[in-house]
Amino acid sequence: MTLPVADTWFTASRIAEGVTLILEPHVHVLEQANMFLVEGAERDMILDTGMGIAPLAPFLDTLRPDPAKDIICVSSHTHIDHIGGVHEFATRLVHPLEAEEMAAPSGLNSLFRRDMPDRLLQTFLDAGYPPIGELLIDALPHAGYDPESYVLRGAPATGLLDEGDVVDLGDRRFHVLHLPGHSPGGIGLWEPASGTLFGGDAIYDGPLIYEGPGMSIPAYRQTFAKLRQLDVRIVHGGHDPSFGPERMAEIIEEYEERWDG
Ligand SMILES: [Zn+2]
Ligand SMILES: [Zn+2]
Repeated sequence: MTLPVADTWFTASRIAEGVTLILEPHVHVLEQANMFLVEGAERDMILDTGMGIAPLAPFLDTLRPDPAKDIICVSSHTHIDHIGGVHEFATRLVHPLEAEEMAAPSGLNSLFRRDMPDRLLQTFLDAGYPPIGELLIDALPHAGYDPESYVLRGAPATGLLDEGDVVDLGDRRFHVLHLPGHSPGGIGLWEPASGTLFGGDAIYDGPLIYEGPGMSIPAYRQTFAKLRQLDVRIVHGGHDPSFGPERMAEIIEEYEERWDG
């Protein structure tokens, strides 16, 4: 099997004031997570770091107005599609319940479908994702790249983020929300001043995943109750395009009805 070499591994689009969405278009949609670069007056933030197939930090430096400025890396949670580039950053923040996993990832650690547990594949199919081929990528990041060489490295946290903490970028302050259900230490970032919510994989406009190791429907219900309290204007989720408060209410309702059976 020969894959083409990608022109560019990452794409970037400005989606809000000071917020840039970064994607890996050659990663299969089910593991293609959103990464958000948020520019701050004193420091920038990268929220989630993709699969770790190509170096992310040098790409971010091409986007940042001042690449010499500090950048802090926040992981919404520690699934393979969110922590791939975490080792590239000096400041690495995660919820305490997933710090161990970020330091030494124990989950999926391969680009090959054959290494994905059948149960996991079935979960994704049941959720509505398209089937995957032999590989999670449809292009190579550079000529000569060997998909067999892929490793999810992880890195130890340099600090912890829990409910009530604030990520302060100088002019922008994000309140940490603990949002378990999809993963035990999932967090969201909430900026009251702008009504902006970064939801991680707790909420996005695509098939939500709530059955698997570390997942819990009762916890997810509480997470949704917490999200309902927010006077949200825009939600940037862990996958799929951003959406507004009406859509957020619809998504929550859809899953609550499903769980009510
Ligand atoms: Zn994800
Ligand atoms: Zn996830």
